[in-house]
Amino acid sequence: MSIERTEIADLGEFGLIERLASKFSLQHKSSRLGIGDDAAIVSPPASHELLVSTDMLMEGVHFDLSYVPLRHLGYKAMAVNISDIAAMNAHVSQVVVSLAMSNRFSVEAIEELYEGMKLACDTYGIDLVGGDTSNSRQGLVISVTAIGFATPEKIVRRSGAQPGDLLCVSGDLGAAYLGLQILEREKQVFMQTPDVQPDLTDFEYVVGRQLKPEPRIDMVERFEKLGIMPSAMIDISDGLASEVLHICKKSNCGAVVFEDHLPIHKDTYDTAEKLNMSVITAVLNGGEDYELLFTIPQKDYQKIELDPFIQIIGHIDKPDKGASVRMRSGQFIDMKAQGWNHF
Ligand code: ADP
Ligand code: MG
Repeated sequence: MSIERTEIADLGEFGLIERLASKFSLQHKSSRLGIGDDAAIVSPPASHELLVSTDMLMEGVHFDLSYVPLRHLGYKAMAVNISDIAAMNAHVSQVVVSLAMSNRFSVEAIEELYEGMKLACDTYGIDLVGGDTSNSRQGLVISVTAIGFATPEKIVRRSGAQPGDLLCVSGDLGAAYLGLQILEREKQVFMQTPDVQPDLTDFEYVVGRQLKPEPRIDMVERFEKLGIMPSAMIDISDGLASEVLHICKKSNCGAVVFEDHLPIHKDTYDTAEKLNMSVITAVLNGGEDYELLFTIPQKDYQKIELDPFIQIIGHIDKPDKGASVRMRSGQFIDMKAQGWNHF
C-alpha cells in the first residue's frame, strides 16, 4: 500500500494523462499513432476485418472497491474486453480507455489501476492507443474499447450453430459467482466487526476466479492447432443459461446440456455447500466465468474428444426443442436466462 497521496488536481488532467501514458509503448505494426494527438491511427493488415467491442464498469454496479484491489480491477476491465474479441475467434491489438473519477481518488490510486491494465497489455500483447479522462461527482467509471483484426473466414459469430453440433466449454463454471458471494459475506462480517480479518484460505480458487479472470485467448490458438472452427461462439459473462439461449436465438436452434457433463471445480462444490447454495444455479445463472461456449460440427468429434481444454457439455437440437438441462435424475429443466440485471 502506498502512503503517498498526490491529488489529481495538483497534477491536472494533462499531467495525469502524461504520467499514465509514459509507462506504455507501442508494439503492433498496426498502431501507427498512439496517445498524444486528437485521435489514434490504426491501420488494419491487408484483407483483415476490424472488430470492435466496448464494456463499461461502474463502481457500485459492477465492482465494489471495498474488496476489489484497483490493480485487479484494471486487469479485469481489460480481460472482459479481450474475452469478447476472443469469442469472435480473434485477438485484441489495441485498446482505448476512458475514465471518470471523483476527487476521492489520488494519482497513486489511478496509477495502480493502470498497473493492472499494463499487466494485461503486456500479457496479451496489446497497445493502449488513447482514451479520455473526466471528473465524476461520485465514484469511478472505467470504459474500455478493444480493437482486433481477423481475416473474414476466421471470424466466428453466435449464429452458425446447427442441430447435431456438439456444445462445448473451455473450462469450469460457477466459481466466479460463488467467489463474489464469499467476498460479499466477508464484507458484511468486516462491517460488523472491523477488527476481524477476513479468512479466505478455503476460498482462494473461487475468489481468484472472481478477481482475476483470464480471457481464453489461448483457445483461439488451440482451434487453429486442432484444425477446427467452431460453428458458433460466445463468452460466458452472464451465466451458462443466458449464453446458451443467445446461441439458440441467433442460430435459430434448440440445445440440451447434461448436468453430469458440466465442468465444476471441486472448490466450487465445496463453497456452494458451505454457503448452502445450489451449485447448478451458480453455473446456469451466476456469471463472470469468462470461459468460451462454442459449438463444433459432429464430424470434428475425434479432433476434440481427448482435448483436456475442451469439455463437451451437450448438443444443439432443432429449434422446437427449446433449451434445457437434462438433470442426473433424468428430468429436463428449461433454461432461463437470469443474467445480471443491473436495472
Ligand atoms: P481531447 O481534448 O482532444 O479529447 P485529451 O486531452 O482528452 O484530448 O487527450 C489527449 C490524449 O491523451 C489523446 O491522445 C487521448 O487519447 C489520450 N488520453 C486521454 N485520457 C486517457 C486515458 N485515460 N488513458 C489513455 N489515454 C488517454
Ligand atoms: Mg478527450
